[in-house]
Amino acid sequence: MQSRPLGSTGIMVSPLGLGTVALGRAEGLKYPSPVRIPTDDEARALLWRARELGVNLIDTAPAYGLSEERLGSFLQGERGDWVVVTKAGEEYYQRYDFSPDSIVRSVERSLTRLRTDYLDAVLLHSDGVVEAGAGADEAYDALARLRERGLVRAIGASTKTEAGADRAIERCDVVMLTCNEQETAMIGAIERAHSRGLGVLVKKPLGSGHAGDVARGIRFVLDHPGVTAAIVGTTNPDHLEKNVRAVERAMGGGAS
Ligand code: NAP
Repeated sequence: MQSRPLGSTGIMVSPLGLGTVALGRAEGLKYPSPVRIPTDDEARALLWRARELGVNLIDTAPAYGLSEERLGSFLQGERGDWVVVTKAGEEYYQRYDFSPDSIVRSVERSLTRLRTDYLDAVLLHSDGVVEAGAGADEAYDALARLRERGLVRAIGASTKTEAGADRAIERCDVVMLTCNEQETAMIGAIERAHSRGLGVLVKKPLGSGHAGDVARGIRFVLDHPGVTAAIVGTTNPDHLEKNVRAVERAMGGGAS
């Protein structure tokens, strides 16, 4: 897979990202079947396979339970090979605090858990409400100060509403939005973000596993020119490989 620029950040990412919520948490997922958290060996093998297939983008969050901590251990010695996106504002699990102090403390904890001295991107992990108000601006100011200190390369938001996306577009480098064949309301925001030079990450590209046809679902997302990468959650290396092949076909390259 050919890497592409994450908006104007100077960061190059694969068009497929690995969503890692199920590396750290089994609760609260809207997947079709119950989640079994992979063992350390399985998780290491998944990451190794991802790198081998050309995936360099990982999405995690403090709200994903042990995901950051486990990634910190698995990525030791190969941090520079990965683009790590994490979040701030939601703690495990559904405990929200978007105050500037809490955002800074959250980023400091993420750095420790991920065993790194920089994060490629930190996104406001929105509850769907804060994103449209002044609370979001204060959080973005806090993230911008962390960016100035070199602890964070890019700042952004994972939003749930158009108003929240538009506010983030004004202030951020990256937005994460839901888009799949069943949920298309954010397509306008994707286009606006792209036209303003932001990187656009799509969450739930397979409708949290409810997409009928995986390859068609991936193509639907990547056919939107504003989308930088689809973040697909999987713990299954065979699914990962199928997703990579689907991305390659959607982008007009690679074998079937
Ligand atoms: P998703 O990527 O749309 O779907 C994940 C589901 O699809 C899992 O059940 C996975 O199961 C299955 N799957 C993946 N590839 C498959 C394949 N080739 N064949 C069959 N099934 C396949 O949903 P998501 O995980 O909810 O969203 C993606 C990522 O976005 C998350 O992991 C997370 O990183 C991020 N996200 C962020 C937020 C937020 O910031 N608020 C919210 C939601 C999601 P297997 O493990 O069995 O493959």
